[in-house]
Amino acid sequence: MARYVGPSCKLCRREGIKLFLKGNRCATAKCAIERRNFAPGQHGKNKAKLSDYGLQLREKQKMKKIYGVLERQFRTAFYRAVRQKGVTGENLIRIMENRLDNVIYRLLFIPSRDEARQFVRHGHVYVNNRRVNIPSFQVKPGDVIELKKKESVEQRVKENLELLKDRPVPEWLSLDKGSLKATVVRHPTKQEAGLPVEESMIVELYSK
Ligand code: SF4
Repeated sequence: MARYVGPSCKLCRREGIKLFLKGNRCATAKCAIERRNFAPGQHGKNKAKLSDYGLQLREKQKMKKIYGVLERQFRTAFYRAVRQKGVTGENLIRIMENRLDNVIYRLLFIPSRDEARQFVRHGHVYVNNRRVNIPSFQVKPGDVIELKKKESVEQRVKENLELLKDRPVPEWLSLDKGSLKATVVRHPTKQEAGLPVEESMIVELYSK
């Protein structure tokens, strides 16, 4: 599936907030939002008032950028959320959080979702003893996530765990740092996802 390969920081500057797309760099003074918090381009400093449609569009774009997916994949996720029971916006968040690349990121194995996606693509992740190299794979409660038994992979993950030790692993995941084995305890909630996105506006946008 195609993905965005342009400059990540421009995406944050377009939205005017940190989307934490670059891992460790996002917490440093090198972050582009810290240095140039205005939209990219010649007219980036001229802030236009957004219409209702514009506001809804920005919310959708934010969520797509956070999870690193393009329109087609995101729309597919949205329609899957519509078909599920419950509140569509919350279903959408749960579907995006349950992506395997996001789970690898949430487990602190890898500092950014973009890198986590590549990590999965390279076949370093096993779910229930089977290798899964599809970043959009949906995990479910009870799934056991393990890494490829390879020294360089385990070393890299251990270094990341040490580096990111101040960031908590969400409660819907349980991680054994010794064996680098994780279990999906339950589905994530909207609050646990902690997204800077108003998901109801995305539902309104797609419902037009
Ligand atoms: Fe966004 Fe991270 Fe770049 Fe800052 S460093 S602008 S948070 S991607």
